[in-house]
Amino acid sequence: MRIVDNPCLAHLQDNNLPVIAIYILDVIEKYSLGKASLWWLQKTLEKLKIDYKKKFNLDLIILEGDASKILDQFIEKYQIKEVVWNRLYSKQTILRDSSIKKKLEQKEIIVTSFNSHLLNEPWEIKNNSGEYFKVFTPYWKNSYPFFLEKQYTYPQIKKITPMTHKEKFKEFNFLPSKKWYEKFEQYWIPGEKSALEKIDQYLIENINQYKVNRDRPDIDQTSRISPHLKFGEISPRVIVEKIKKMKTNNDSISHYLSEIGWREFAYTLLFYAEDLKDQPINKKFKKFPWAKNQKQFQAWKKGQTGFPIIDAAMLQLYEEGWMHNRLRMIVGSFLVKNLLIHWHEGEKYFQDCLLDYDEASNPAGWQWVTGCGADAAPYFRIFNPILQSEKFDPEAIFILKFLPQLNIFSKVKNIFQPWLNPESLDKLIHEKKYQLPIIELSISRNEALDAFKKINSKINK
Ligand SMILES: Cc1cc2nc3c(=O)[nH]c(=O)nc-3n(C[C@H](O)[C@H](O)[C@H](O)COP(=O)(O)OP(=O)(O)OC[C@H]3O[C@@H](n4cnc5c(N)ncnc54)[C@H](O)[C@@H]3O)c2cc1C
Repeated sequence: MRIVDNPCLAHLQDNNLPVIAIYILDVIEKYSLGKASLWWLQKTLEKLKIDYKKKFNLDLIILEGDASKILDQFIEKYQIKEVVWNRLYSKQTILRDSSIKKKLEQKEIIVTSFNSHLLNEPWEIKNNSGEYFKVFTPYWKNSYPFFLEKQYTYPQIKKITPMTHKEKFKEFNFLPSKKWYEKFEQYWIPGEKSALEKIDQYLIENINQYKVNRDRPDIDQTSRISPHLKFGEISPRVIVEKIKKMKTNNDSISHYLSEIGWREFAYTLLFYAEDLKDQPINKKFKKFPWAKNQKQFQAWKKGQTGFPIIDAAMLQLYEEGWMHNRLRMIVGSFLVKNLLIHWHEGEKYFQDCLLDYDEASNPAGWQWVTGCGADAAPYFRIFNPILQSEKFDPEAIFILKFLPQLNIFSKVKNIFQPWLNPESLDKLIHEKKYQLPIIELSISRNEALDAFKKINSKINK
């Protein structure tokens, strides 16, 4: 969804090929995008269409349907000689794209694909035994220098030659029917221009404090570039090149780069692991005795658990279509370890609500939180939501932003644990403004640890 650092466009420019540009919302992509992401998709396509027209006089054709059939129709109608695209990495997309490639090559059509989404593609980074890395630190140690050695320079796209065609343009509308997405306009501006401006501003104003501020939802100073990266409005290579140009190096900058590295690592897992969305990398978790408690799951989704940091985080997700990374870990840990609800449920809910929903980072994040992923947090590391609030939202600024009704407590510790002040909590409950905690933390923690011991002992028998 961009012009800058788009290798497809560069190839077409270099070879002076006349171009028909098509975006196809195939059933595989439609399935993998949640409802929130469909809003972003609509907006970014509207912008890209305008940009192509303005810059190249090129009409972007936007269609929904079977990618293979649609391509066949265009190829026949316009006697297309070459098809180009930027690569995707999930099992389903690889299967589809390889099958399309095979069919086209049988018709003697040239098919050329490129890496536009990653610094390094999954198969480029291997350990000494020729296998993919399952631990992040050695992965990144090998991956980042490898990218730097390539001396990457991206070409300027100045001229694309449109092919004359007689296609009629229907209005496209991928928006979901429920209009809760309208509020996203307050928080986000999709599109390449906004992505580039956002990162430039971030590198000037905030990156040097990243290491100290990145875990603080109250300070809210991460780059919020994730949905732009997800939709390819900006490439990770452009971000890294911009950082290199700053000619500054400090812990914050290295840390920021390593987070881009976690995204790359997630794509390696998506590419190599059995089925990242469905299967735990650590197989003993297949036997984990997950609970099926719809009432508690609904309370988690709606931000009605009675634990303010969890509830505020879930309200942020619903309101902004995004959640701070520290909070993703806290609410994830609460769902899988305190409620013992399967990580699949959390993964799917995030898929539906996140604007940055990413088919690699989301399941990898959920497997990490659960303790069943590659290089994951150990299962016994169970986040205590109260201690996490004290540490990462010490004045309850974040909590009060989403739960202003808790502003009746004079002490911050009561905002973190409203039940410590039963009179005020009773008043809130009576006015239907807040609720009692749905579980007792220490009991649920012990239950989780017992369940974990059981799957360990089953393996050992
Ligand atoms: C349970 C769970 C689910 C997640 N789901 C997603 C998802 O669907 N899409 C997504 O992009 N990220 C996901 N993440 C990772 C992370 O939370 C987000 O990338 C980050 O919060 C985005 O905000 P930002 O752009 O301000 O990040 P910054 O802190 O500014 O980081 C810059 C970029 O680095 C990458 N990044 C940062 N942290 C991570 C990480 N832990 N894993 C992978 N990449 C990272 C992202 O591309 C991010 O935009 C998930 C994490 C967890 C724990």
